[in-house]
Amino acid sequence: MRYADIVLPLAQPAYTFAVPEGMAVEPGRAVAVQFGPRKFYTGIVWRVHDRRPDFKRIKSIERTLYDAPLLTERQMRLWEWVASYYMCTTGEVMRVALPSLVKPSGTTEEEFAADEFRPRTERYLSLAPELCDEERFDELCERLERRAPKQYAALLEIAAAGGGGRGAAGEVARRLLAADAAVLHALEGKGFIRSVARERTVERGAATFRLPELTSAQREALAALEAQFAEGRSTALLHGVTGSGKTEIYIHLIAGVLARGGDVLLLVPEIALTAQLIERMERIFGSRVTAYHSKLAPRRRTETYLRLNRSEGGEFVVGARSAIFLPLKRLQLIVVDEEHDASYKQNDPAPRYNARDCAVMAARLFGGRTLLGSATPSLETWLNARSGKYGSATLAERYGDARPPEVLVSDTIRAARRGERQGHFNKLLLDRLEETLARGEQAMLFQNRRGFAPYVSCTECGWTARCPDCNVTLTYHKASQRLVCHYCGHTEAVPAKCPSCAVTEVVPMGFGTEKVAEQIAGLFPEARVARLDRDSATSERAFGAVVADFAARRTDILVGTQMITKGFDFGGVTLVGLLNADNLLNNPDFRAAERAFQLMTQVAGRAGRRAEPGTVVIQTSEPGHPVIRQVAAGDYEAMARAQLEERRTFFYPPYARLVQLTLRHRDPMLLREGIVELAARLRARFGRRVLGPMTPPVDRIRGEWIAGLLLKIESGASAARARELLGGELRRFGAEARFKSLTVVCDVDPQ
Ligand code: ADP
Ligand code: ZN
Ligand code: ZN
Repeated sequence: MRYADIVLPLAQPAYTFAVPEGMAVEPGRAVAVQFGPRKFYTGIVWRVHDRRPDFKRIKSIERTLYDAPLLTERQMRLWEWVASYYMCTTGEVMRVALPSLVKPSGTTEEEFAADEFRPRTERYLSLAPELCDEERFDELCERLERRAPKQYAALLEIAAAGGGGRGAAGEVARRLLAADAAVLHALEGKGFIRSVARERTVERGAATFRLPELTSAQREALAALEAQFAEGRSTALLHGVTGSGKTEIYIHLIAGVLARGGDVLLLVPEIALTAQLIERMERIFGSRVTAYHSKLAPRRRTETYLRLNRSEGGEFVVGARSAIFLPLKRLQLIVVDEEHDASYKQNDPAPRYNARDCAVMAARLFGGRTLLGSATPSLETWLNARSGKYGSATLAERYGDARPPEVLVSDTIRAARRGERQGHFNKLLLDRLEETLARGEQAMLFQNRRGFAPYVSCTECGWTARCPDCNVTLTYHKASQRLVCHYCGHTEAVPAKCPSCAVTEVVPMGFGTEKVAEQIAGLFPEARVARLDRDSATSERAFGAVVADFAARRTDILVGTQMITKGFDFGGVTLVGLLNADNLLNNPDFRAAERAFQLMTQVAGRAGRRAEPGTVVIQTSEPGHPVIRQVAAGDYEAMARAQLEERRTFFYPPYARLVQLTLRHRDPMLLREGIVELAARLRARFGRRVLGPMTPPVDRIRGEWIAGLLLKIESGASAARARELLGGELRRFGAEARFKSLTVVCDVDPQ
């Protein structure tokens, strides 16, 4: 008897099933199995063996799905690495790695069958085999030409499209023919043509690549990277200032791999950006570009997955983080654009993986190459490049006539004292804005808070509106006249009078993008103002419309959150204003300074990307803050050195690895008991490497209280061993009756 260990999309280890006599199964194969409460699942065969498991009733595999394995050997090894490194099950990896429609499920067999993916079919037409005989074809043509000219035309069309020349019996897609349905129907009825329905194959066009000519600096960087890769280095960093043409270098490397029949994966941090980059890549690589991200319709994602699974190579996929799990059999190059971006990390739910690190690992496991690109690399990557573990190349200057933007730091407190402040704008910024608009150029204003005001408060007694289920203030949204919780979505009306003292009205405090947009529209009534944040970009289309209007200069000023910072290449923007740098700097996170530098530099990078020089105005109450000075000087290295020094002193990444443990429960007493107990047990094993218990900045979300522990593992120690010990402790802890109801989350390399 043969058995198969099968991975199911659950937070459980692989489960063993019996393989029915005569069923062909192999690792990577998708199968239907009956299991647990949901009953019918799609599972992946992981291992086939003959060791009978020691449970009593062993179920058999119901049947196999698809006619080829869904996973390559490489993908299986990547899943295993992700599961082991991020401390989850391969079943949890399966949840993100396979598109939803690929893995049907159901409570009954019928439901399962109904859930199965059915490829779109299409009709193909060909001449009847008899007509391959030239004489008979001619004869028929003559007859039809006189009696049924339309049928004659259609017949010629099919013959021509089906391989050129009369008599050829090639197939042609119905969709490509001009002939009427009735005419084709008549031909088929008379037996002159054959028609079959077959799976619609998405053609991948043969492309002629139009490569940009590189500048000498770009050529040097490309040559350096190619040499390092050729020497066997699997990962390299391309550190190039914004607008230096990193994308042009990607393009040349990508073309090289495609020309040799290899596959390429280009990872981009957010769907927001994908659209612009895909368009740019399509201009070069035509229909060779395949998009893959979460905003694609489920059917498209599935079709793409299955098509790639059958492909023989030469694929170019541009995708968001989950694209790292696609079946690219000849993957030779992964490019990770904006590699420092935190959105490469999936925070919730498991697998809490970082696609950038998976890309580095994939290159190491499978002999491919990974290129990490950024203007502001993560300190982890920068240190790896500097120490020689990664290869590296640098682009220090912007392309063409574009100069680095002039950065002006504007002191908010001084401006207020001098009466040089209107609303949330210092005079300096307003003056520049006026000049910019007068020249017919565009501006972007950045504020990292959405909504109108981050909280409302009573000026009399100090009461602030808070979420009943989360320990945060409610944000005031003026357009909808509501108070909204940005953690759980709870909304309520603004109270007419302070509910606490009933003396005065409550007033909005602080400011978000909505307020910025309103104030700026008031100050510049002539200007066309648009807003880009999660409230305004409710759909991909709404987002695209705002971006398209700004790109076509139908709007003058774009106000936005993080959404406007990354990657955009708008030629008309010459002024960028950062309205409040303080809340970026004063984050309690150990990465606050690095992130603030990255964000401010990225925002600044949107200004002056063409010949017209750009200006950046940073408003802050701490103009002397070292990070502000480093941003103003465009000095990444000064920031990196200073931050690395601190990280070394306080023992944070890249000098230590972190595992963040989070416990959640509705009962704060039980939570306290649990976290204290877990802390004690972990201390017994890991000693001073355990920090906490600690209370996160927001210690209650959706009615659940939250407490955390942090495990710091020194770089030299075996991280694998630490994960193993930790995993054991967590399993024991979770199995105990009194702690069973606690939610335990384990986040390796938290962002
Ligand atoms: P980065 O990715 O480093 O921010 P981009 O690749 O977006 O920089 O380049 C910035 C701008 O300069 C783009 O508009 C790009 O088309 C242009 N550019 C850069 N290098 C070249 C080149 N070699 N030839 C033509 N245009 C270039
Ligand atoms: Zn009050
Ligand atoms: Zn809430």
